[in-house]
Amino acid sequence: MIVAKHFKWEAAHRIPWHGGKCKHLHGHSYKMIVEFEGELNENGIVIDFNDLKALVKPHIERIDHTTIISEKDTELKEVFDSKNWKYYLLPFDSTAENLCNYFANIIINENTTFLIKNNIKWVGIKIYETETAYAYTQINVNNN
Ligand SMILES: [Zn+2]
Repeated sequence: MIVAKHFKWEAAHRIPWHGGKCKHLHGHSYKMIVEFEGELNENGIVIDFNDLKALVKPHIERIDHTTIISEKDTELKEVFDSKNWKYYLLPFDSTAENLCNYFANIIINENTTFLIKNNIKWVGIKIYETETAYAYTQINVNNN
C-alpha cells in the first residue's frame, strides 16, 4: 500500500550548464509528492498522514521563497553573499532529478529508525517543476 502527500514551495534557480532558457535565473512553483510504501498496521493505516507531514514540512519551510544555488555556481553564490540575500545551497545543480534524490535521502536518513519501525519499505519522491514536467525516484529505506 502506498500513502502520499503533496507539498508546494516557490523558489528561483538556474542550471548554469543548460544550453537553453534554464541557464537564466528563473522561478518555479514546485510541487512535491512524497510517497511511503508499506504494510497496513493493525489500525488499517501505513503511516499517519500527520507524521508524514511532520517529517517533510520543515524542509519545505527551509527551501520556500529562496533561490536554490549549486555550490558549483560560484558566480551566483558570490552575488548573493555580497548582498546578504537568502539562498538554499546544494552540492549539485538543482535539476528536478537531483532534488528528488536529495529529498528522498534526507527523509530516509533523518528518520530511518521511525520508518523501519513503521515497516516502510521505500520512499518515493515526485517533483514537478512545471505543471507538465516531473522527475520521480524511489529509494529503499534499508539501503541507506
Ligand atoms: Zn527551472
